[in-house]
Amino acid sequence: MYTPCLIIGSGPAGYTAAIYAARANMHPLVIEGPQIGGQLMTTTEVENFPGYPDGVAPFQMMDDMRRQAERFGTQFISGRVTKVEFQSHPTKDQPHKVWVDDTTIYEADTVIIATGAGAKYLGIPSENEYRGRGVSACATCDGFFYRKKIVAVVGGGDTACEEAQYLAGLCEKVYMIVRKPYLRASNIMQERVKNNPKIEILFEHNTLRLTGENKVEGADLVYRKGEADETVRHIDINGFFLAIGHKPNTELFKDFVARDAEGYIVTKGYSPQCYDLSGEYELPGIFAAGDCADPHYRQAIIAAASGCKSAMEADKYRRILDLTPTK
Ligand code: NDP
Repeated sequence: MYTPCLIIGSGPAGYTAAIYAARANMHPLVIEGPQIGGQLMTTTEVENFPGYPDGVAPFQMMDDMRRQAERFGTQFISGRVTKVEFQSHPTKDQPHKVWVDDTTIYEADTVIIATGAGAKYLGIPSENEYRGRGVSACATCDGFFYRKKIVAVVGGGDTACEEAQYLAGLCEKVYMIVRKPYLRASNIMQERVKNNPKIEILFEHNTLRLTGENKVEGADLVYRKGEADETVRHIDINGFFLAIGHKPNTELFKDFVARDAEGYIVTKGYSPQCYDLSGEYELPGIFAAGDCADPHYRQAIIAAASGCKSAMEADKYRRILDLTPTK
């Protein structure tokens, strides 16, 4: 099956790309993937997306975006992309190819990769049990719900320090749970958290489990000086924020698209254009939008904006090549 514009991913980036691509008469096809709505669906409420003055449930917001894309003719395929074959010199006979669930092959003039990223979790069972009920991987998204409460942030990198600082502006107290005897973050971030009277850093601590009835009320930590010297310490907390890194969902593209050391798709400047593995040559018609190409901001509004840019560039690319709207 042929489409002028194929979009992989159904988060804010993918759906926004679809709205713009559909309105540009590109008849986009969105492959929605395993988590329809994307990462946002793991949060409880969205209060910082413009246009929703009273906040909005993530499901509602993503459904709104999806219906908006559908209104202009977007088609949706529920399935997982299992293989891609991008061409460095695509032609009508040799277009970009995308396999869904190993069986159906889609051919496309343009592909917008909007596969997002996933926060890393510790892997302890209680993380899942309390997900959305005290466990979060985004302080900017959920911090507001913990005003004047006590929270913990796990991690010792720049993200953890930033999140701890942000939460300290809202909460009564913030613990940082750091597994090493030092922080990995940049010096300036380290200074900030160390000098913030609301932040207490618990070095060489690991989380054993979360406790509480129906929601997070505490955490059992273990302090390691050595294998023989482990003491369990309990802290009372209302929120438990993971800040131990993110992993972009880009493995699928590794043989075609330039990625950085952490797997984020490389784009340059303001453009969502993707590059071949050398990182030097553009891959014509291939664009990246949202968190799969953004190690820094990781916000729905930024992802939506980059989805818009990708669709505009895809349209421009097709116009330059004078490709017909449909085949
Ligand atoms: P990092 O990989 O830099 O840090 C991850 C932190 O989580 C480390 O302290 C690591 O510990 C800890 N960690 C990892 N796995 C576990 C685990 N299983 N249990 C406990 N702790 C764990 O990730 P960040 O997201 O902080 O940063 C990613 C990149 O983005 C970095 O290059 C960073 O500098 C950059 N960044 C820059 C910002 C800025 O400039 N304002 C803001 C945010 C990020 P350990 O040290 O022991 O490995």
